[in-house]
Amino acid sequence: MKSLTCDVCKRKIEQPETDRTFFHYANRDLCEACKEDLELVIKPVIRDRQPFNYEWFDPFVREAIEEAIGRGSFTTR
Ligand SMILES: [Zn+2]
Repeated sequence: MKSLTCDVCKRKIEQPETDRTFFHYANRDLCEACKEDLELVIKPVIRDRQPFNYEWFDPFVREAIEEAIGRGSFTTR
């Protein structure tokens, strides 16, 4: 795999290395910047929504990513 495109920001990731320069979530490929933005979205939700459970967490992450893909970003910056 020589290069890969981030599904959210559409940036090209050269020489992608799993969990170093790109991250795979919910069948989507995210660059490092988008993965950090995703964490910012996820963290407060994990804090507030107890108990933690993959039954709500997985669909939540998937939806957050799909929405970000629609907007081209996780944030409204
Ligand atoms: Zn990205």
